[in-house]
Amino acid sequence: MQSPYMFGPDPTAVQCPACGHRVLTRIVYRANIMTHLIAVLCCFLTGFLCCLLPYCIDSCKEAQHYCPACGAYLGTYSR
Ligand SMILES: [Zn+2]
Repeated sequence: MQSPYMFGPDPTAVQCPACGHRVLTRIVYRANIMTHLIAVLCCFLTGFLCCLLPYCIDSCKEAQHYCPACGAYLGTYSR
């Protein structure tokens, strides 16, 4: 399903297509391929411990937007 909205890394005001409410999206951060790449890079450069770091930093992950009213998935922002 293609979302009509462009999402950024921050909560976005949208009209939820599922419940029709005007809401500020709830964001869930998920590790994506970029997160894994950064982790591998950190592992090579600094050692094992730092390869866990990207998984703790939200800006290294993609942001999935959900409706806070009904919980519908609305779209994903990935850098
Ligand atoms: Zn909704």
